[in-house]
Amino acid sequence: MKFPWYKYEELPTERRNTLQVFICNVCNRVCSGCFARNVMDQSQPFMEVGEYTGYVKEFLEKGGVQVNLLGGEPLIHPQLGGILDFNRSMGIKTTIYTNGDLLHQFNKGFFSGVKIRVSLYSLQGVKSVHRMALECGIPFDANFMISANTTVQELLDSAAMCEKEYNCKTFFLFSMRELDNPDQDFFTDTPETGSIFHYKKLVHEFMELYDGSMDIHVSKRGVFESTVTPPDNRCRFANCFTGGRIIQCPYDVVNCVYQDDYSFGTRNCQHNSTCLMSKVIYRRKVNA
Ligand code: SF4
Repeated sequence: MKFPWYKYEELPTERRNTLQVFICNVCNRVCSGCFARNVMDQSQPFMEVGEYTGYVKEFLEKGGVQVNLLGGEPLIHPQLGGILDFNRSMGIKTTIYTNGDLLHQFNKGFFSGVKIRVSLYSLQGVKSVHRMALECGIPFDANFMISANTTVQELLDSAAMCEKEYNCKTFFLFSMRELDNPDQDFFTDTPETGSIFHYKKLVHEFMELYDGSMDIHVSKRGVFESTVTPPDNRCRFANCFTGGRIIQCPYDVVNCVYQDDYSFGTRNCQHNSTCLMSKVIYRRKVNA
């Protein structure tokens, strides 16, 4: 299947040195496909603010630019407001990855200057965000995690709802697996895991049929490549957890591949010829 280039132009992307901080070891859901389930230390539910600021100061010294807050569910963290204030005071670009369930407990001002990404796993999940999104009026981007069970119609309906009802500007497509190598499966132990070829085919079909105007971000996952941004095979991601635990590559989180330290722009990719964490951005051509 050919990519429908007649409909889209590709936008250049910028790779920022990014620290993903898992501030919360608890969650209000129990998703079988959760990639962080093995790193959540139940003996310490929340990362202390002092511990957090220590990690971020070191990260800035290493040339860091962007912090992603994850968990568990980061909106549960009782000192989230203090963490966001600290990031603002340090001029850090911040994104929160959330399941969206608790968004309605906050107001728009709380997240001033912060990007919210709501992870969605199904059309049913998209619908369940509905009431919350309408109640709080907090803008967010939609992150759809494609699984073995996802259909193209489900993707189209989800995109339409995100655009028309939630006013999302971006629809981000991820897979729940990275490589079509039986020895390197990302989620071999979950029924949601689909083949990477299923992911590629579904994204192609979706791009062909999509008739909205959101920017579509597609995670490369080793099967998409940019035509405008040169490939980068150096790590620009790192992850830190309560208790000083560090894992450089997000793909190693599920297997708890801890290490002593991390660096940006020096370590060669351990999984692919270019970073699997990077993405391609497509925009609808006018009149296409
Ligand atoms: S996919 Fe490769 S380059 Fe990207 S963070 Fe992981 S090991 Fe590093």
